[in-house]
Amino acid sequence: MGKPRILLIEDNVDNREMVRFVLERAGYEILVGQTGDQAVTLARQERPDLILMDLSLPEKDGWTAAGEIKADPALAAIPLVALTAHTLPGDRKRAMEAGFDAYISKPINLPRLIETLAAFLPPAQSDE
Ligand code: MN
Repeated sequence: MGKPRILLIEDNVDNREMVRFVLERAGYEILVGQTGDQAVTLARQERPDLILMDLSLPEKDGWTAAGEIKADPALAAIPLVALTAHTLPGDRKRAMEAGFDAYISKPINLPRLIETLAAFLPPAQSDE
């Protein structure tokens, strides 16, 4: 059995590489993209076990991409977790209405990120 696969969509390179590093160390396989369009395309191509997606993205924002993913019957069951600095009252509700299953605020609390993702995934597999 392979490692659980997470599709990470984040346009900020520092955040993307930091999250990728931490999640790979935690025993997940990470696929990456940088735009909302890539989120939808890569979800269709790769069928990841979970999608972790920033909301403020170029070309197509995370709310729109989430709506398209959840509207596709082949993808609708994939857990969708938002990664966002939008933490005003109402932002969480807006993310949930767009189809996200959970919400992680920036700056990212890494133990909390891993705990949140683990709740939606099969057990991670470290390399040792
Ligand atoms: Mn962004």
